[in-house]
Amino acid sequence: MSLVAERLSVELGGRPILRGIELAVEGGEVVGLVGPNGAGKSTLLRAMAGELAPSAGRVIFDGTDARSLDGAALARQRAVVSQRSEVAFDYTALEVVAWGRAPHAPVETPACRAMARRALDAVGLAERASSPVVTLSGGEQQRVHIARALAQIGFGETGRYWLLDEPTSSLDPAQRRLVVRLMHQARAAGVGVLVVLHDVGLAAWACDRIAMMNDGTVMQLGTPREVLTPERLREVFEVDAAVDPSPWNPEVPRVTFRLGDD
Ligand code: ADP
Ligand code: MG
Repeated sequence: MSLVAERLSVELGGRPILRGIELAVEGGEVVGLVGPNGAGKSTLLRAMAGELAPSAGRVIFDGTDARSLDGAALARQRAVVSQRSEVAFDYTALEVVAWGRAPHAPVETPACRAMARRALDAVGLAERASSPVVTLSGGEQQRVHIARALAQIGFGETGRYWLLDEPTSSLDPAQRRLVVRLMHQARAAGVGVLVVLHDVGLAAWACDRIAMMNDGTVMQLGTPREVLTPERLREVFEVDAAVDPSPWNPEVPRVTFRLGDD
């Protein structure tokens, strides 16, 4: 079971953005997309979610071309946490999370409500269930969207793939660690996770494999230790980087960028 990009190219506004991407996300693994701003990470995530039509190549969900799946069928296969998620109206946190179940069942059922509560609890927001989402902080809203997607995949019982675009950008370290745990729990349930991470240090903790992107292509695909080398980081980000074993787990590379001039 896998989510595959096969010779995938995407054009936006008449410009080639992705060029010939080959990438497979297996059930039960976390694959990270890392690379500089504008590398094409969000575009690749959206294309692999079936939200963007390829100009060449294809996206395949468990053997089925994404083009032959309609929106409802896609929504049962995978859940997406977008880089920017706006909630336009005064819906409560619980209502937004419950929508995640809509592809599977009517959202008013007790089972749906129970799943929504479980998901809100998983992101530490059980107390805010009846708060209008617009009154929550940026980090809390980000967690509501993570909970909505978790409800959509039913923690792995009803959906096979979870795609997240910079899900930790507004989160403090304890909440970032929580998101890593949630991705690992989904992995243990057999979910294939594809996640865009701005923070390569976080990617080292979260991901089984990392696709290093630059200029619309995957430059390197491998384990965090294979990909996060000083040479590769310097080449792609154009900033000096030192890499050493994490003091907490020597298998995890710790990346330090040289962010000053002295
Ligand atoms: P990343 O997520 O790695 O920062 P994106 O996938 O968002 O990069 O963007 C990759 C490139 O595609 C950028 O140069 C961006 O300007 C361009 N791009 C993104 N969306 C559009 C669009 N709707 N129309 C034209 N170009 C776009
Ligand atoms: Mg992006």
